[in-house]
Amino acid sequence: MINYTERIALLMQDVVARTPRLAFIDLSEVLVFGRFGRSDAEGAFATCHCLTLPETEPGYFFWKDRDTGELTRRSPWFVTKSPLVKIGTKRIKYLISFVLPRFCDQALPRSRKADLYPGGEGWLAKLDTVIHEMYHIDPAESGIRAVQRADGSRSPRSHGPRFYEDVAEMVHAYLATKPDPRLYDFLQHDFSELSVRYDGVVATTFRNFPSFPQRYMETVDLAASDPRVRIEPLKPATQPVIYTEDDLHIRQFTDSSARRLTRKGQHCAA
Ligand SMILES: [Zn+2]
Repeated sequence: MINYTERIALLMQDVVARTPRLAFIDLSEVLVFGRFGRSDAEGAFATCHCLTLPETEPGYFFWKDRDTGELTRRSPWFVTKSPLVKIGTKRIKYLISFVLPRFCDQALPRSRKADLYPGGEGWLAKLDTVIHEMYHIDPAESGIRAVQRADGSRSPRSHGPRFYEDVAEMVHAYLATKPDPRLYDFLQHDFSELSVRYDGVVATTFRNFPSFPQRYMETVDLAASDPRVRIEPLKPATQPVIYTEDDLHIRQFTDSSARRLTRKGQHCAA
C-alpha cells in the first residue's frame, strides 16, 4: 500500500532543499497527517495548522437578560491554548493535513489555479497545494504567514492574488530544478488509480480520528467580579491536550471511509 502522508513528507523535504524561499522550514517540526473528505463534497484539500500560537488573554462567555440587560449567567474565566504535540523529543510546531481522497482527486482544469498553469498537467494542482500549505509556515515563527491577525482572527487578505502567484512561481521553479520524478510521481494518479496500483492508500492519522490536535479552552482561577451571577461550567474537554508518537495511527482510506490498520498478521476489526 502507498503511505500517502509519508510520500508528501518526502516530497516536502525535496521542495525545502530546492526552494530558497522555503529553506527556513525545519520539517522535523512539521507533521503531515490525513483527514477524511469525499471527493464529491465541497471543502478544503489541505490545511496548515499552527501549534505555536500563544495562549489568549483570559476571557469568559456571558448571557444577558434580553429585557433588563442584566448579566444572568457567565462562564468561568478561561484561556484558549494550543495542544502540545511531541514526536520523540521534538515539539511539533505545525501540522499539515491532507484531505483524502479529495486531495488526490483535485484537478487543474476549471479550477481557480488554471490561469497560473496555462496548458499545465492536472497533477500540478496537487503540487501547488503542497507548496501552498508549506508557504503558510511563517519564517518569523509568529504563527501562520499573514493569515492570522494578532488576535487570532483570520485576515481576509491571507489569500490575496500575490500568495497564489508566489506559490505558482515556486512550483515552476521547483520543477525547473529537475527533481527526481519518483518523488512526485504519486501526485500524477487520482485516488482510484492509486488504490489499484498500490492495493490501497494509507495515511498517518491521530488516535482520536476524525479529530486531531486542536485549540482548546482551559479554565483559569480568576475571581468573578459579581459573585451573585451564576457560573455555568465550561463543557468538559473531550480531546487530549498532549499528543505523542503513540497517538499516531495508520489508517487505510477508501472512497467512503478510513479504518485503522492493525499490525501485520493481525486481523482488522470491521
Ligand atoms: Zn491557504
